[in-house]
Amino acid sequence: MHQIATRAVDWHAIREDFPILRERAHGHPLIYFDSAATSQKPRAVIDALRRYYEHENANVHRGLHELSSRATEAYEKARQRVATYLGATDAEEIVFTRGTTESINLVAQAWGGKFIRAGDVILLTEMEHHSNLVPWQLLAERTGARLRFVPVLDDGTLDLEQLASLLTGEVKIFAFTHISNSLGTINPVSELCQKARAVGALTLVDGAQSAGHLPINVEELGCDFLAFSGHKMCGPTGIGGLYARAEILDSIPPWHGGGEMIVSVTLEKSAFKKAPHRFEAGTPNIAGAVGLAAAIDYIEQLGRPAIFEHDSNLANYATQRLSELPGMHIFGPTKQRGALVGFVMDAAHPHDLTTFADQYGLALRGGHHCNQPLMRRFGVPGTTRASFYFYNTTEEIDQMIEILSAAVRFFS
Ligand code: PLP
Repeated sequence: MHQIATRAVDWHAIREDFPILRERAHGHPLIYFDSAATSQKPRAVIDALRRYYEHENANVHRGLHELSSRATEAYEKARQRVATYLGATDAEEIVFTRGTTESINLVAQAWGGKFIRAGDVILLTEMEHHSNLVPWQLLAERTGARLRFVPVLDDGTLDLEQLASLLTGEVKIFAFTHISNSLGTINPVSELCQKARAVGALTLVDGAQSAGHLPINVEELGCDFLAFSGHKMCGPTGIGGLYARAEILDSIPPWHGGGEMIVSVTLEKSAFKKAPHRFEAGTPNIAGAVGLAAAIDYIEQLGRPAIFEHDSNLANYATQRLSELPGMHIFGPTKQRGALVGFVMDAAHPHDLTTFADQYGLALRGGHHCNQPLMRRFGVPGTTRASFYFYNTTEEIDQMIEILSAAVRFFS
């Protein structure tokens, strides 16, 4: 029998905290291997949302009554919680957004709109999610800036030898993912940030796949921006954030106009609040922020180092077991990888394989995973992806192998 190292956390017991894991799909016990798309939510988060709506709900910042004070306090406490979680010096360095996509768009449009000029270079990598690609394409079209890409090697890591020739003084920002959502590659963030800083470029880290999976300290990483999504780290959908270094955030003009972000308004002109409120026009997702803070509390209770170790064990175990199947092609690094494995099987197209697995209650994801250029780089239309979180088990991986073995027999 295959064994993995276990830690003090009882990973089987914590499954009880996730009511949805008791669901059945097509008559089978649910095996949820799609956490890279969105994670499941523990009862602590669901309860925090209910508690907020039952005891605190009101609009923030503009009310002079008790409930508005409670809602404002809960919302701003959540901002502080996120700041501490990410190792930011100050809560004012955290802007609440809808998630990673909106955070990157904020930087591309508001920061980029002010600081990017024709001829400037925006450096990205070939492994970026469309969320960290399309906003920069739009900015480049608008400003005449140029895009450059760090290539991906066959083993799924970045071609760091080419970095020196790409990361020149013309680069104004280097935006890259922490963990690839298709390959599982964990990029050397501190090293990349250090190199970017040496040529005077800012850095944006796409933390969508890392924020809930490993310890992050933005000061230690040395990044200027970090974007993340709450829903991928046990929090609700529609909430996430952008960390931005204080002096940079202060230099960025507003991007969305409306209520909450102004100090005074005349018919002709407005004066704006300081960051981060300047970037939060309109009624924010207050309940979402409260739920996100509860998710962070939950994650911290387990401990990010323990989560990372458990995730890595699952990913390594899955990689090893998948490689036993005939006609299997696994993408991404063989050694250290994030909590996911992307693969293609000779027996069936990723969509057919994913549909087959679904009939047995196994939730995989098949397709390009918002990584079309990366799929093209590897010469495949898409992959099947199994992505894990701390509530998954090796037994579930064994069941996946049985289902995929049945798929090989079915499609052959
Ligand atoms: N970046 C990466 C690496 C992702 O995996 C994802 C989502 O899958 C995103 C960005 C976009 O996240 P969201 O849709 O929550 O904005």
